[in-house]
Amino acid sequence: MRVAVISDIHGNWHALEAVLQAIDREGPDAVWCLGDLVGYGPQPNGCCEAVRERAEVCLAGNHDLGVLGLLDLEDFSPDAAAAVRWTRTVLSEEARAYLAGLEPSARRAAVELFHGSPRDPVWEYVLTDEAALASLELTSAPVVLVGHSHVPLAVVLDRTQLAGWVVPAGAEIDFSQGRWLLNPGSVGQPRDGDPRAAWLVLDLAARRAHYRRVPYPVERTQAEIREAGLPPALAERLAAGL
Ligand code: ZN
Repeated sequence: MRVAVISDIHGNWHALEAVLQAIDREGPDAVWCLGDLVGYGPQPNGCCEAVRERAEVCLAGNHDLGVLGLLDLEDFSPDAAAAVRWTRTVLSEEARAYLAGLEPSARRAAVELFHGSPRDPVWEYVLTDEAALASLELTSAPVVLVGHSHVPLAVVLDRTQLAGWVVPAGAEIDFSQGRWLLNPGSVGQPRDGDPRAAWLVLDLAARRAHYRRVPYPVERTQAEIREAGLPPALAERLAAGL
């Protein structure tokens, strides 16, 4: 079974469209989404609709739950909170209903999925050795998928040794030995200095993960962010991938 893993779309329709076209060319058996369909970006409804149609599994992220009013906006940065408030004013009933049915964690086959981490599926960023080790200790599946940090990662625990980290575009990981924690990176707001949309192909039979990047018209999403009156910094950061 080959699975396309996407995460952190954040209302960036042009990035999602480019990834979905790349997924169509790849022809996986399923699409899994690790959450944060909305927030930051100008097209929450189109992104929710496309993910609802395409994804066999979809998790709830902190921005999705924030838009639904289930998290305190005090815990969001000022720009993120402003975008959550804006998203509430434009979110369709269909999109709201879809988000309301999502959970921040799931399990499929030999894979455990979390938006944040096993320790805190909603909020924790797995960006340190300690967090990666805790994530692998709190799970038992050979592969653990997380999103939320917007950075493509591959970390392996082989007995007691932890190794790996930020994954460059185009890299291929063999996960047949040890237990692995993988983050596909972000479709709609990459933060690893590469502005291209990130996603991952997980080949569960061959036990290989292929990290993909695809360019998209960043300037179109930027123009929509400005037109919507969202914080301008949310447009600027997309060009730098930060
Ligand atoms: Zn996110």
